[in-house]
Amino acid sequence: MTFSHDTEHALGTLVRLVNTLPGPNSQVDTMNTLEDLEKFVQEREFSAVGTLTETDLQEVRELRPLFAPVFTTSSDAEAAAMINAIVARGTTTPRLTNHDGHPWHIHYSRDGSSLTCRITVECGIALAQVISAGERERLRRCEAPDCDDALIDLSRNRSKRYCDARTCGNRLHVAAYRERRKASGE
Ligand SMILES: [Zn+2]
Ligand SMILES: [Zn+2]
Repeated sequence: MTFSHDTEHALGTLVRLVNTLPGPNSQVDTMNTLEDLEKFVQEREFSAVGTLTETDLQEVRELRPLFAPVFTTSSDAEAAAMINAIVARGTTTPRLTNHDGHPWHIHYSRDGSSLTCRITVECGIALAQVISAGERERLRRCEAPDCDDALIDLSRNRSKRYCDARTCGNRLHVAAYRERRKASGE
């Protein structure tokens, strides 16, 4: 494993969140309603969140444009400046925990803090771990021509090129296969 379980989980949460923004192809915002937010919280297994409100939805929506550019930076310094600004928005309270059978690891936000604060801090620190490990290249955008979804490449040889969400890799393989057939006159 490249990063700790919680870091990888937070990065997965962040990719999921950033990719709710409308893209060049699917120009649909999929973090638009409280139901969208509730589904997100459930999918990403946030514990003890409590009742979500329109304020939570608004705040979470506003986090996306802060995080999104981190996936297209061209230097560690640029990424670090963005990540520091993000983490500074939250309240950090590092605490060792071994909840749900996981080995001892650190949570950076308090369980009772708002969903927005938890996302800000946990995802911000996870990104900080990536940069401090010298792994910024793992933060990327999907290479499919009609998709620019954010992705985190956790493969051993950093070979991931396409996002998971829209099966871009499969789609391109099919397209390339058809092109080859056409070129060979089959
Ligand atoms: Zn944990
Ligand atoms: Zn894609």
